[in-house]
Amino acid sequence: GIKARLDAISAIINYKPSHAPLNFSETKPTDVFGSNVFSDKVMRERLPKDVYKSLKKTIELGQKLDPSIADAVANAMKDWAIEKGATHFTHVFFPLTGLTAEKHDAFLVPDGKGGAVAEFSGKMLIQGEPDASSFPSGGLRTTFEARGYTAWDVTNPAYILENPNGTFLCIPTAFVSWTGEALDKKTPLLRSNQALNKQAMRILKLFGVTTKLPVVSYAGPEQEYFLIDRNFVFSRPDLLIAGRTLFGAKSAKGQEFEDQYFGVIPRRVLAFMMEVERELYKLGVPVKTRHNEVAPSQFEIAPIFEAGNLATDHNQMVMTVLRTVAKRYGLICLLHEKPFAGINGSGKHLNYSIGNADLGSLFDPGDTPHENAQFLVFCAAAIRAVHKFGALLRATVASASNDHRLGANEAPPAIMSVYLGEQLTDVFEQIKKGKVESSKQKGLMNIGVDTLPPLPIDPGDRNRTSPFAFTGNRFEFRAVGSSQSIAGPQVALNAMMAESLDFIATKLEAATAGDPSKLNSAVQTVIQELMKEHDSVVFNGDGYSEQWHAEAEKRGLPNLKTTPDALPVLTTPEVVKLFTTYGIFSEAELASRKEIYLEQYVKTIQTEAALVVRMAKTIIFPAAVRYQGELAATCASLKAIGHDFKMTTLECVTAKLRDLQERVGSFEKLLEHSTDDTLAEAKYMCDTILPAMLDVRAVADELEAVVADDLWSLPSYQEMLFIR
Ligand code: ADP
Ligand code: MG
Repeated sequence: GIKARLDAISAIINYKPSHAPLNFSETKPTDVFGSNVFSDKVMRERLPKDVYKSLKKTIELGQKLDPSIADAVANAMKDWAIEKGATHFTHVFFPLTGLTAEKHDAFLVPDGKGGAVAEFSGKMLIQGEPDASSFPSGGLRTTFEARGYTAWDVTNPAYILENPNGTFLCIPTAFVSWTGEALDKKTPLLRSNQALNKQAMRILKLFGVTTKLPVVSYAGPEQEYFLIDRNFVFSRPDLLIAGRTLFGAKSAKGQEFEDQYFGVIPRRVLAFMMEVERELYKLGVPVKTRHNEVAPSQFEIAPIFEAGNLATDHNQMVMTVLRTVAKRYGLICLLHEKPFAGINGSGKHLNYSIGNADLGSLFDPGDTPHENAQFLVFCAAAIRAVHKFGALLRATVASASNDHRLGANEAPPAIMSVYLGEQLTDVFEQIKKGKVESSKQKGLMNIGVDTLPPLPIDPGDRNRTSPFAFTGNRFEFRAVGSSQSIAGPQVALNAMMAESLDFIATKLEAATAGDPSKLNSAVQTVIQELMKEHDSVVFNGDGYSEQWHAEAEKRGLPNLKTTPDALPVLTTPEVVKLFTTYGIFSEAELASRKEIYLEQYVKTIQTEAALVVRMAKTIIFPAAVRYQGELAATCASLKAIGHDFKMTTLECVTAKLRDLQERVGSFEKLLEHSTDDTLAEAKYMCDTILPAMLDVRAVADELEAVVADDLWSLPSYQEMLFIR
């Protein structure tokens, strides 16, 4: 990789900041934050009062949108966007590819007299019709009725994407088929929030808690990523096409010095981060934290948590902005879960809670006995949910790329368990035993007549090996992959929570029969029952250990190691019942999702396999043959002048070249396989193709370690990870 290396080095040496970074004395935080968002403030200023009021009701209280106000809103949006420099508008949606999709339409409309006017009607705001036939539908639509439409998501604000290359208005939308089936990630998220709200309200009512605002899920996703010099990527077809390295010998130095985490941020990277933050602030994304991550050239960006639907849109923006801004700094941002073998991959810890602005997090223990009891109910619901639907939760993060992380001693295992910490575990254990402790002790948490150890729980001892950990006022779901949408896991969590809250509310309603004085003992009984049945999902120990894997099996917790193991869960009777009961997915929608995700898995590995063959034949083999030729020529010359030098390197290269040729040959034979059954194909990819790919890689990586550096055109791990 000499050419790429020199280009990268010169990029670093010649790097000069192109403009001054954001500076809060020159630009006040309030001036930059949300400046490109059609925010509450903008709406209040620009919308007729009654229109504003009506829209607010829909946004905050979840009331039905009054279509008659759409024209007024559209008009205000258009004027605002054009003032900001926009020429086009786009309905932004999140198809099942996990990416962000946008189709642009100009505001310009001919006026029929040879001129043109800017136009944007309520109809255009409310509904768009992108050609849906090119998006995966998993059999939900036949091609002749390929039309789908995008529907304005009023609850998230419109915004401007401002760009040196063009500026346009973005309208968040849901993407559905003509027959009303969800074709995207947003629609089920909105449905799941409605289900969650309904069931949470029943519990709150029992506790005498009233709130006008609906209960929603909150999400705070911590986004990890790699940054490397862009020059390297142009010489690495695997990084360019697959987003990860399919070849590459280990670097002499990896992450073993533990000198990267929280280390000093390299200056070009800092400049990049500053610009990312400026862009995200303008879009109203409350990014807060940035730091180096564990692996070399790995970093993290985390926002302050927001309502789940908004946090999901914002996380998609974070991913887009990371990618686009990186290019401006001569860098490439890798969001793949495992770009480099042998060092940590990237995840996206999803901090999850439920609540609303009135109530805060319902996973917050609170200060009073009353609040404590309510907290225990919501917490017990979460424990029951993960125990009943752990396999589903696992399935929501299943992908070819995330399989490289889960269970690989850097990310949580594929076994879904709940970490509660010692104190909270103890509380639940005592309730389970029905033990009455001395009520004289001070500061103890009290539910009803029984006294329990004190809350709040100390979130201090964090267990990084748990997939689902209680961290004080929320759960942290750590199995999400860095490139994945956070919508899927939230849909599952909301549905699972709704189901458990429904179950608990029904019990409590029956036991109290409208008499609030019976609540405490009813709560006690229900939690006791729940723990007896479900506390085997609680595990506070080391999730990486062999013992846990054995123990989890004994406890009957599923361990779905790979994507083909996990995805079939989406259509099991329990999961179908869960989602259909709460109106979140129909059976057909679930089947289509399973099919689409399996297809994506197969296609990902097929693409990687094709790259492996191509790179082995056209890049690696030729480099080694040239080196072999040089060595052979040298041997021949030496022999000609009377030296009999037996060159072991030549033997070695020759043997490995033969090996490579053979392995690539048999790999190609394995690829000649095909079946119409997507699950069978996925299993074949998993069990046969992936290991064979590693066989080819192994010998290629050995060659990399002997072939002359100047002949090896693939940039090495060492240079990619350490030249920055
Ligand atoms: P750590 O790396 O220690 O886990 P970070 O500060 O990097 O913590 O990220 C924690 C994330 O959790 C942030 O996005 C934060 O806003 C979010 N968070 C905090 N409280 C809640 C809550 N109640 N619900 C959801 N997310 C939360
Ligand atoms: Mg963090």
